[in-house]
Amino acid sequence: YREAAGKDFPKIHIDDPDADGKAVYLTFDDGPGVYTEQLLDTLDRYGVKVTFFVTGSFPACEDMIKKEDAAGHSIGIHTLTHDFAKIYSSDKAFWKDIDKMQAIVQKQTGHTTNLMRFAGGSSNSISANYTTGIMTLLTKQAEQKGFQYFDWNISSGDGGSEGDMNMVITNIISGLPNQDACVVLCHDTKEYTVKAMEYLIPWLLDHGY
Ligand code: ZN
Repeated sequence: YREAAGKDFPKIHIDDPDADGKAVYLTFDDGPGVYTEQLLDTLDRYGVKVTFFVTGSFPACEDMIKKEDAAGHSIGIHTLTHDFAKIYSSDKAFWKDIDKMQAIVQKQTGHTTNLMRFAGGSSNSISANYTTGIMTLLTKQAEQKGFQYFDWNISSGDGGSEGDMNMVITNIISGLPNQDACVVLCHDTKEYTVKAMEYLIPWLLDHGY
């Protein structure tokens, strides 16, 4: 990978005595988008299954949800609009958004999902700008509705406006020794993140993860 990736593969050494057999759960938010198909090809090449927390941000790419599901990946709902002001304005507005995304998932895959990731995570502080205490209410309601929601304990750092492949690989690899089970936050809407997986996944497999 280091040779194949050239200078973009970080010179990083980690010591993780628990690497052998440790699970790394790769999760991809905010898509499907224009780079999702490329990611699916990479995942197929290594026989790796991931979780997609999908949105309706790129309607032209909606049918990728069907391909993700058919390839054996897990589909969870992220949100339809990812519009914090809108979804966190009230619990009613939030579930209206989620229900619409669920309808798209059902249309594409033929079934609903009970997996979910809150936009911004379940303990985000941004939502309080719109409604105080809304995450406490929504997390409770999610459980009542039978949803299982997931946050993450390793961030690839690709959520912002700047970043590159080296950053994604460095952030993920350096987070591994600190967790028993690694839930990694990535975005398949970023080209450099999708590219990073071509090198990170074989690295993980070769290191016993
Ligand atoms: Zn998101």
